[in-house]
Amino acid sequence: MTRAAGPRAGARPRLRRAASPGAVEARRAHTRRVLAALEKMYGRPEALPPKDPLAELIFTILSQHTSDLNRDRAWASLWQSFASWDEVARAPRRAIERAIRMGGLAPTKSRVIREVLEEVKRREGSYTLDRLAGLSMDEVERYLMGFKGVGLKTIRCVQVFSLGQPAFPVDTHVFRVCRRLGLIPETSDFEAAHRLLAEVTPPSETLVFHLNLIRHGRLVCKAGRPACERCPLRPECRYGRRPLSRRIPAAH
Ligand code: SF4
Repeated sequence: MTRAAGPRAGARPRLRRAASPGAVEARRAHTRRVLAALEKMYGRPEALPPKDPLAELIFTILSQHTSDLNRDRAWASLWQSFASWDEVARAPRRAIERAIRMGGLAPTKSRVIREVLEEVKRREGSYTLDRLAGLSMDEVERYLMGFKGVGLKTIRCVQVFSLGQPAFPVDTHVFRVCRRLGLIPETSDFEAAHRLLAEVTPPSETLVFHLNLIRHGRLVCKAGRPACERCPLRPECRYGRRPLSRRIPAAH
């Protein structure tokens, strides 16, 4: 019988080394230059009007793996089909699925929406998360982490878009562009990316930076074929400065 390899007896656990203050400062300076270049290209975009925390949470679930247009259509259709969260929670799951199907992944999203609503009702006694507005960033994170199907990016979206907290959500565009730029290591996963980017982004700029990185990822730094030749960020970009033969399209 084979066994998974474990640590050798007596081996010391490997600790993650903290970055030196100089390295963090260099990453901060790099981030500020990228921020400024993006702002020159796209200005300071404004977010949609804030929703209450529960609405923002469900809206973010609907936004996963789809375009803004289809997310908005799914959201509008949800409210054409139901008059309240109470009605959504009591509806058969297939009815929710039908209402949001233009947003994609309707079986999964309808299940997560139902589970979130059940959990909110269980914890709060009604369909509201308004009390999150009185909590600190860490408290909001701890509270929402307990919901099935709700990950760090969704939590950061609720924090920055609904609660006005200086959180930085990392979606697939932000992740890809920041890896190429060298703002995070190529080996980073999404969780590390959230931590590393929050560490170097000025709190007042998290929302603008997030929105501008998404815009850049959609228009210029696309997954399959980034347009490095016409990209003003190229002087700041680890990937864009490579010779053409060493630019490998990203998996994300
Ligand atoms: S230079 Fe290329 S890889 Fe770098 S941000 Fe611009 S488009 Fe993306």
